[in-house]
Amino acid sequence: MRQSRHVGKTLREVPKDTQTAAHALMLRAGYIRQLSAGVYTYLPLLHRTLNKISQIVREEMAAAGSEELLMPALQSQELWVESGRWERYTAVDGIMFAFKDRRGSTACLGPTHEEVVTDILRQEIKSYKDLPRNVFQIQTKFRDEIRPRFGLMRAREFIMKDAYSFDPDEAGLEAAYEAMRLAYHRICRRIGFQYRAVEADSGAIGGSGSQEFMVLADTGEDVILFCDRCDFAANQEQASSRLEEFPQDAEMRPMEAALGEGLIGVEPLAKFLEIPVWKTTKTLLYDSGGQMVAVMVRGDCDVNEVKVANHLGGAPLRLAAPERIREMTGAEVGYAGPIGLPAGVRILADRYVDGRVNFECGANRTNYHNINVNFGRDLPRPEFGDFKLARQGDQCPRCAGRLQAARGIEVGHIFKLGTKYSEAMSCRYLDAQGQSRPVIMGCYGIGVSRMAAACIEQNHDDRGIIWPPQIAPYHVHLIGLNLEDPVVREGAESIYQRLQQERIEVLFDDRPLRAGEKFSDADLIGLPARITVSKRTLEKGQVEFKRRAEGQAVQVGLDEAIERIRQMCAASTDS
Ligand code: ATP
Ligand code: MG
Repeated sequence: MRQSRHVGKTLREVPKDTQTAAHALMLRAGYIRQLSAGVYTYLPLLHRTLNKISQIVREEMAAAGSEELLMPALQSQELWVESGRWERYTAVDGIMFAFKDRRGSTACLGPTHEEVVTDILRQEIKSYKDLPRNVFQIQTKFRDEIRPRFGLMRAREFIMKDAYSFDPDEAGLEAAYEAMRLAYHRICRRIGFQYRAVEADSGAIGGSGSQEFMVLADTGEDVILFCDRCDFAANQEQASSRLEEFPQDAEMRPMEAALGEGLIGVEPLAKFLEIPVWKTTKTLLYDSGGQMVAVMVRGDCDVNEVKVANHLGGAPLRLAAPERIREMTGAEVGYAGPIGLPAGVRILADRYVDGRVNFECGANRTNYHNINVNFGRDLPRPEFGDFKLARQGDQCPRCAGRLQAARGIEVGHIFKLGTKYSEAMSCRYLDAQGQSRPVIMGCYGIGVSRMAAACIEQNHDDRGIIWPPQIAPYHVHLIGLNLEDPVVREGAESIYQRLQQERIEVLFDDRPLRAGEKFSDADLIGLPARITVSKRTLEKGQVEFKRRAEGQAVQVGLDEAIERIRQMCAASTDS
């Protein structure tokens, strides 16, 4: 492609409101243009990269036995009502773009395709002989994200690969899930990500398993925890951990209310009361779809809201508003405790709250704290569970190792759905005995456009993008200098022809610009190799060859440069 005809100019200025390198570089290097919040045009360079990522995904899906189809993005309300997700996706979460069509029916733009695919496959599957099945598509998805940000990372319109498996039994699902898990590892390796597969929250569906593929990056929105000794790794939302437990008092002391004015934070409170922080208790009040809930965690912990929400059946969990807290506790915010709350409030406690003798908790009275509290004597034992947020430094749930933390970008998610959709939407089959059974499903997503952004986030320097060859828009940036000289023009043109004949993907900078501008654009755009042609190189019968990832340019013959590009491409597809 000639750069003189190319759509997607580079920008000198760093665009405003860009918090990640990938977002800023994609805008500056002419890969994307924003149309509205979270909605982007994929300009030609990015389009090529997205096609290459899609191609890798397609190859690995095919190798894993999945068959490609393309479902409508325009969906109707009925299927979502049938699956029971309409309310959640519209009124509750508001993630779905829904509208009336001219016939008065309610339509929506697909945020995901469990409903549509289940509808297709239930027409297809009659008996066990029609199983297993596995289909995927690469398609634009629509989600009205509350906070679209970081460019393609969290967009409102984005490209996803979604695959769905249909099996007669758990063993079939296990095999389908395993095949996808391995395919996801191959995809991440082929793109060259530094990544980690982690255990993920399987949500209120209570599915039997789920893993996320996390690209490691400081700007990632997720926190992952992994053990420094064993292979345990999980999304923080999902992770459990063990905490140190301490020797307890031999005897219960009488409970009393201690005055601790304005002491809301656990550290100053513990100091004031002369007790260790682990003896204090945080009690947070939540609204879970109208039900008020108090959640207790040890003072040195925080609440894992995802786990609490799942425990309560999946309704969205919101911290109670200050006025509601005052109403329920009769005190200012910061003094909530489990004793004396209104009767309807459900009380949950993390299991590390238990086993303590003479602990502290809020007294539901401004400035007061109950001390020497004991379950069973001063209040009934609440509902215990794993409700604390696991953190870096905690003990691994599986071994004696310690948990480390890193930030990650979720690029893929595989999920055992079980029978949620097949039961709700009656996708059933007759087994060998003629008995009707629900099909067992799995779903497997990859953020194709998010992967492009994640790759830039991991591969850039202060001058621009550094594409790995396998997904670079072009392999080589051919830079012609002093093209106003007809001899140089002719030489550069013939090298451009030759590269194309050799099937090397080349972007030819044939613009009448100064060398400095061309080089800085080349660094910004980040193609893996650069070939420069000028009067000087032509006189020597050579070109200047440089890898974007390396500092040093070398003078070589054109054949040698072509050979180096071939080697570079071959090395990148070896993995
Ligand atoms: P997140 O937790 O980041 O909101 P999700 O868990 O809702 O994502 P899935 O439903 O698992 O997303 O979608 C599959 C994949 O699609 C994700 O792993 C991610 O790579 C991609 N994806 C999801 N939402 C977006 C978005 N708003 N913009 C770009 N890619 C997205
Ligand atoms: Mg996900």
